[in-house]
Amino acid sequence: MHDTILDKATGATLGEVTLDDAASADRTIATADAAFRSGPWRYDANLRQVALAGWADELERHGDELAAIIRGETGKVRRECDREVAMAIDALRFNSGAARSVAGTAHELPDGSAGHLVRVPVGPAAFVTPWNWPLFLLLRDMAPALAAGVTAVIKPAPLTPLATARAIELAGGHVPAGVLNMVRGGADIGQLLSSDERLKVVAFTGSTQVGRDVARTVSGRLGRPFLELGGKGVSVLHDDADLDAAIDTILTFGFITAGQMCMANSRVLAHRSVADEVRDRLVDRVSRLVVGHPDDPAVDTGAIVSTTQAEKIRGYLEIARNDGTLLVGGEQPGGLDLPGEFITPALVAGDQIDTRLLKEEIFGPVVTLETFDSDADAVRMANDTDYGLAAAVWTNDLRRAWQSARALDFGTVWLNRYNRTFSEVPSGGMKASGVGRTRGFDGIHEFMELKHINFDVGHLAV
Ligand code: NAD
Repeated sequence: MHDTILDKATGATLGEVTLDDAASADRTIATADAAFRSGPWRYDANLRQVALAGWADELERHGDELAAIIRGETGKVRRECDREVAMAIDALRFNSGAARSVAGTAHELPDGSAGHLVRVPVGPAAFVTPWNWPLFLLLRDMAPALAAGVTAVIKPAPLTPLATARAIELAGGHVPAGVLNMVRGGADIGQLLSSDERLKVVAFTGSTQVGRDVARTVSGRLGRPFLELGGKGVSVLHDDADLDAAIDTILTFGFITAGQMCMANSRVLAHRSVADEVRDRLVDRVSRLVVGHPDDPAVDTGAIVSTTQAEKIRGYLEIARNDGTLLVGGEQPGGLDLPGEFITPALVAGDQIDTRLLKEEIFGPVVTLETFDSDADAVRMANDTDYGLAAAVWTNDLRRAWQSARALDFGTVWLNRYNRTFSEVPSGGMKASGVGRTRGFDGIHEFMELKHINFDVGHLAV
């Protein structure tokens, strides 16, 4: 079976891919398994360091090409694609160095023996990725896993397999054969990976709904599900917030990738004393955002990835329109002659916002604005969602910032900024936003086992 990959903005054909069936996917898993068992990848941290560094350099040399592929297959604006490639390279470079620094501990035990606790790679792992940031999200999770010594079976989203395939091609000559393996397909191939006992970890980035399914299947066979799921990012604006900085930041991260991002700042909570000003300034700024061809540097938001996704977003907008809470946007942009799906950035505000818009992940260019009266109110309202991925607190009061940050049930909380992530700092979701932490040494340990090797060395004779 074949699939045609289209440019999400222009509708142009970007490539044809051959989809896997159960037999070919099985052979690919066997290759990853054999490469793990035979070594030397799993034993040789120096080999891994050099390979990841070489791959990073190769991606940098082909940065423009990769960004152009991502631009086409996702439909998002070009500067986000350049950023994505840079972040993927950074993940490889950090983990290249980290590969040489993974260590265990040693114990002198009461019976005179020596216990060495060593970290060993868990085995072959699957990496199942979504369509919004295809290359970066793969390397965010997989670069630490490769540093740990696992071999990989990679399944990109059916809408966006091309940048992943090209990046893997570019690894040739750096990463040994058999370490990186790719399968192509949708839910059927994803389920096959979840149920295959040879894959010790299934690292899944995607929706919470599918993540639950992956968790059930992988746990059922005593594998490890590693899940980076949906989000409902929130910014809390206190009465002493720097509104200029906060509003600029909300504009950038509320509508990044046209809101199709797990960490998108889709909710804003403003203290009652500043709420009217925040609303008026957001209405003005949101109405001036430019929707259009993602190659145009003047454009703020590009295409919605598919008609299915656009219909889902329009369904939420319809609720807000009927309730009278849609203040601006949510329309077909005028004068845009492109076959892709486009929606103008929307602001939803008022006392009667439907709870579905406040609690569910819309995954589109829609930001909601609510009002609170006290610090306790703000925390309660922000936490009133199943998701717990990312939040921000805007205030100049250090005590209030600390106390709010501690009380918010989110895996990352920024103070007076938003969406800053680092290869060295673990991140991930609380509640329905995920299980496990990616990045940093914790991200490497997710793909390792602790193994105790005990030596009978006798008591010290002193
Ligand atoms: P999705 O859950 O529909 O698909 C994700 C991947 O899973 C795709 O490769 C898909 O083919 C595969 N898949 C589908 N059904 C499967 C099954 N039953 N078993 C195994 N694999 C299956 O998600 P999407 O629409 O591609 O991406 C959007 C979602 O991803 C949003 O919810 C977003 O918040 C989330 N996301 C999370 C993060 C994060 O880091 N937490 C990052 C980006 C996106």
